[in-house]
Amino acid sequence: MKWALIGASTIASQHMIGAIRAQEGHSVSSVLSSDSNRGSAYADAHDIPEAFTDLDAQLSGDIDAVYISTTNEKHHAQAMAAIAAGKHVLCEKPLAMTVAEAVAMVRAAAEKGVTFGTNHHLRNAGSHLRIRELIADGRIGTVQAVRVAHAVYLPPNLQGWRIDNPAAGGGVIPDIVVHDADTVRFHLQEDPAEVVAIERSESLGRGVEDSVMSVWQMPSGVTVQTHEGFTIRHAGTSFEIHGTKGSIVATGVMTQQPVGDIVLRTEAGEEAVSFSDHNLYARAVGLFADACAGNGSPSATGIDGVKSLAVAAAVKKAATTGQKISVDYGGV
Ligand code: NDP
Repeated sequence: MKWALIGASTIASQHMIGAIRAQEGHSVSSVLSSDSNRGSAYADAHDIPEAFTDLDAQLSGDIDAVYISTTNEKHHAQAMAAIAAGKHVLCEKPLAMTVAEAVAMVRAAAEKGVTFGTNHHLRNAGSHLRIRELIADGRIGTVQAVRVAHAVYLPPNLQGWRIDNPAAGGGVIPDIVVHDADTVRFHLQEDPAEVVAIERSESLGRGVEDSVMSVWQMPSGVTVQTHEGFTIRHAGTSFEIHGTKGSIVATGVMTQQPVGDIVLRTEAGEEAVSFSDHNLYARAVGLFADACAGNGSPSATGIDGVKSLAVAAAVKKAATTGQKISVDYGGV
């Protein structure tokens, strides 16, 4: 399968180029950058045969799929162009700036008959796959509540558009709440119904929020509490699910690496739970490629991307209005 990278990004260089090349028979044919010098330098640095500044020219090449990892405001138009050109699309989160745009992308892909995936990596982690199994096996009984701690210190090399450019989709809500929404949906197999939230712009954020706490009401009655941030240096991350028979406390698992610890606590005591340490992004690319070949579906589909964005949009609205907001999934 031949891939075109849309965006000369950090995530592609740190994770996705390697994840694509880890698949047998997959190669990266080209990269698109808005700056010809940056594009050429990126292509040279990553051994990519061609660099483009024109998307139509890139899409007219001999490629099967695109991976979109530009800043968030560009995803919609670039995905629509790739879909129109008949390419499969693996798109970064958040899929778009609005739920309506994301829905249009997913519908266009379905109409064109191409595969569309969202690059939510966490549901590919061995830790989260194991947590999902523990819940499904009834090890904690009926789920009562979830707590997600995903407030980190944004690495200095990423302190660009994320902290000062709302027009590019900056802010911790589009950046991290979408991942937490996807992970909660993956574990609970239901979609948040209502949210309340408080955001702040504490130190890094200029014109965007750099911290948010929110509470989500699930249709089953389960309550979810989340904390996302760019400014917290030493908290670590965690994902806790509490049920009538036990609790799963997973630490260090809201991350790009296959790391962390899971503890299952029940009446019988505490049990350390082991899990696979496979590469999260390679698994996502593998499942996406299988889906392109007609087998199964991407680990996170386009609809999963619409829904995570819808939750983030509701959290933003709740934080700015002070109201409890019903999540609007845009009809999907
Ligand atoms: P980057 O800031 O690294 O890249 C985004 C864009 O910024 C690039 O497309 C590039 O534009 C431009 N750019 C990159 N480097 C420079 C530079 N030195 N000077 C000027 N412009 C530059 O973003 P990320 O890789 O962090 O994020 C890209 C997308 O991926 C976002 O949508 C983000 O939400 C998502 N993401 C997803 C993750 C996941 O785990 N699923 C993790 C991290 C990010 P051009 O292409 O025009 O050259």
